[in-house]
Amino acid sequence: MGDSKDLDMTRSRALMARAVQTTPGGVNSPVRALRSVGGDPFFAASGEGAWVIDVDGNRYVDLILSWGPLILGHRHPEVVSAVRAALDHGMSYGAPTEGEVDLAEALQRAMPGLERLRLVNSGTEATMSAVRVARGFTGRSKLVKFEGCYHGHADFLLVKAGSGALTFGAPDSAGVPAEFAAHTITLPYNDPEALVRAFAEAGDQIAAVIVEPYVGNMGVVTPTPEFAIALNTVPRQHGALLICDEVMTGFRVAWHGAQSLLGLTPDLTCLGKIVGGGLPVGAYGGRADVMAMVSPVGPVYQAGTLSGNPLSVAAGLATLRVLESTDPYPAIERSAARLCDGLKAAADAAGVVVTINRIGSMFTVFFTGEAVTDLESAKRSDTKMFGRWFHEMRRRVVSLPPSQFEAAFLSAAHGAAEIDHVIAAAREAFAAL
Ligand SMILES: *Cc1c(COP(=O)(O)O)cnc(C)c1O
Repeated sequence: MGDSKDLDMTRSRALMARAVQTTPGGVNSPVRALRSVGGDPFFAASGEGAWVIDVDGNRYVDLILSWGPLILGHRHPEVVSAVRAALDHGMSYGAPTEGEVDLAEALQRAMPGLERLRLVNSGTEATMSAVRVARGFTGRSKLVKFEGCYHGHADFLLVKAGSGALTFGAPDSAGVPAEFAAHTITLPYNDPEALVRAFAEAGDQIAAVIVEPYVGNMGVVTPTPEFAIALNTVPRQHGALLICDEVMTGFRVAWHGAQSLLGLTPDLTCLGKIVGGGLPVGAYGGRADVMAMVSPVGPVYQAGTLSGNPLSVAAGLATLRVLESTDPYPAIERSAARLCDGLKAAADAAGVVVTINRIGSMFTVFFTGEAVTDLESAKRSDTKMFGRWFHEMRRRVVSLPPSQFEAAFLSAAHGAAEIDHVIAAAREAFAAL
């Protein structure tokens, strides 16, 4: 690969100078501002399979993929033509459409536990609505979540808590009254005993446990078998529901979801990201008796002007159809395994200590020698070194998530050439640290 010159970022910098005059930090979602690694973000101009092209014409191997949705890569022809076809009919009606029925049926085929489901506009809406339904169904208020799991930005879900013991919520964000977070109990991930203790103390007040079955949002962390068993059994013993937040893992790690790989039998499941094929979408659903709480059938109100939007539904349905008919999972998994092996070998060769966690086509290179099994261990990573690595990789036109605590993704469009490029870039990047 030779010496990498610094990228031309002239147009991106000029756009950022304008953007900060209208928008906080110049971005519409915080991580895009690159605050945790420093430097300037590129402004994207287009995408092409495994590649993203910025406004200065730099072409990067894209390992962000819109933070997960683009499992088929950018502008997959079947997804593009499905959206074009929908567009020719109309953009939104506020009346039910055939596509919504098709998408719901496709989701049910993949996840038979979705006896009833509803489409919404984002993952945040999906988790927020699922928790409301769980509270309505159980008549209880408290919610258990795990440190380092992200479930969107609803007030009562923006809570992580201090380490170790059971903590009654203190909000993570300004603007969330302590009262709003008071019903959220936050526990360490991968700690079945903490779950048992929380239920022993407050079991009759807990409506639900919400969990990322494989975590992507503190970087990739996988559950121990003991933790998975506890998730399946402890809430149920106390009349509480299990909510699997598969907004990231759904259709990412397997066609039938992370729940199928882990043997989890959630009462409710949340989806998003891939289900919208790159357009805004979310979905939540599960047991028919629980979903019978949802208006207009039941007393739990949940609505959306653009829910089931025809363009989002067309993109999602086309994506699911390609996934169902081509089963790209084994091939993406092989690519991801080869990539992670290559990254580890590159780090070893440079004497850089890393731990790589991977499930299917999502992975994180943690700059620590210890196993990463929860938020505490993830936080022991050397984030400064990660930041330097991020920039060394980007100079070599590899676009990684700009935070140690995020998952990187591969798509079906990443071929041998792209994998080889990333590994070669990593060899130089690790050596340059
Ligand atoms: C992305 C994500 C969300 C939030 O989805 P948005 O569409 O960004 O609101 C919720 N849960 C998990 C696990 C996610 O990865």
